[in-house]
Amino acid sequence: MARPRGARARATEVVRRLAEEYPDAQCALVHRNPFELLVATILSAQSTDVMVNTVTPALFERYPTPADLAAADVDELEGIIHSTGFFHAKARSLVGMAAALEERFGGEVPTEMDDLVTLPGVGRKTANVVRSVAFGLPGLPVDTHVKRLVGRLRLSSETDPDRIEADLNGMVPPEERGDLSLRLIQHGRLVCDARRPRCDACALAELCPSAFRVGQWAVAAPAAKKGERRGLQRQARG
Ligand code: SF4
Repeated sequence: MARPRGARARATEVVRRLAEEYPDAQCALVHRNPFELLVATILSAQSTDVMVNTVTPALFERYPTPADLAAADVDELEGIIHSTGFFHAKARSLVGMAAALEERFGGEVPTEMDDLVTLPGVGRKTANVVRSVAFGLPGLPVDTHVKRLVGRLRLSSETDPDRIEADLNGMVPPEERGDLSLRLIQHGRLVCDARRPRCDACALAELCPSAFRVGQWAVAAPAAKKGERRGLQRQARG
């Protein structure tokens, strides 16, 4: 296959290949409703989904509704979420978010981006997680994996997550955006590692401008010639 020219053509092919590679990519944060997903996503900042999933069962049992969380004793709440890190700030965000749901949205999680980002602790990334995963609406969360892969695949030259999201939104159909984010995250975890990308086992190597040029490949062969990289790409395909 000829390498797609330009970010738009590459984005289309990335969407197609990742859909084949990860047809069932799912959000790893355990939740039963939009409120629980919102809480879990706020807790996931600077933490891991695995860590968040260890604290949320007790958290959701103690505070099953926005009203319960809005009335939480902060010391007790901090004790429950302590292991996710930044627990003072997260506790403040959770109580403020729950109070805002009660006061302004009738105790329900809103679906509109403009409303979601008014909630304490909620930026575009969290709002996009809730929109795409909980409500099935267009939303493309840009986390650290998405940011790294978009840079390596040269789908955007931006470094600010909101601008990356805007670039991707201009190339990816609304109905594909949430799944693309989940698949990029999975690909980042399983294959395109920050320090040791497995370009030799990557379904995107053929079209990736960074194939065999980043991570350990850059260290091992800083002066690799174009022809050598092509050979590695052919082997990876092979
Ligand atoms: S070819 Fe390498 S750098 Fe490109 S997406 Fe795959 S693993 Fe990442």
